[in-house]
Amino acid sequence: MSVARRIPVLMYHRVGATHNDWERRYCVPPSLFAGHMQKLAARGMCACSLDDFFAWLAGDKELPEGSFLLTFDDGFLGVCEHAAPVLREMNWPATVFLVSQLIGKEDEWCRSHNPSGASYPLMAKEQIEAMRGMGFTFHSHTRLHPDLTTLSDAQLADELAGSRQDLQALLDEPIPYLAYPYGRYDERVLKAAQAAGYQAAFSVQPGFNRRDVHPYRIRRLDVFGTDTPAMLARKVFFGSNDGSWRQTLNYYGERVKSRLGLRTEGTNQ
Ligand SMILES: [Zn+2]
Repeated sequence: MSVARRIPVLMYHRVGATHNDWERRYCVPPSLFAGHMQKLAARGMCACSLDDFFAWLAGDKELPEGSFLLTFDDGFLGVCEHAAPVLREMNWPATVFLVSQLIGKEDEWCRSHNPSGASYPLMAKEQIEAMRGMGFTFHSHTRLHPDLTTLSDAQLADELAGSRQDLQALLDEPIPYLAYPYGRYDERVLKAAQAAGYQAAFSVQPGFNRRDVHPYRIRRLDVFGTDTPAMLARKVFFGSNDGSWRQTLNYYGERVKSRLGLRTEGTNQ
């Protein structure tokens, strides 16, 4: 078995029907989600569990080449309705980052971003319980999904430590991992996440994760609702949010140039 030297982490948000261009970016229709997973499986890829990912990161475990981690931000009900059945069929685990004070409610923070002002339901405790039985794991996406960089120190501590407490009480297990809302963080937020007891945090910085990745800056690839299965496969291959053919052409163009001695620095690591 060849072993993984770098592991991509995929980030999805909602899975369901889309009604405008903004939603088409942040929401993947159910049939397309199934197509994404089938494409990755056809490429010999396999989703690993969050525990395996961190054991690999710590150097305690090897994982096969083609391993990737699947994450869903926000905890939309559509993930339970549409993505969970696909993943159960494939026996692939995934992680959901929950907004702990909005469990069983709606994505209030999106109303000001979605041009139609629509909001969508988030999972309630029953759905979370059912998904845990299917191998899903749940971690923190703060209490109310604020941009953490804009908060006072006291608010920041409440959003970070408070969300851990909420979820520990709900799930009766430790909550060591965080995904920064909007991927927004700075040095102060990173230190606060550490102080609140998180052991690692996921950003939205694209790229692969190697074992030397900073544990509070784990990289993720953003999957859009407009990504065809072939585009997703290219994103995963290149470790980039750009799944276009242009990316592929640039990559091979750079390789040719470097072989000809026209350019020596590496590309796209
Ligand atoms: Zn989010």
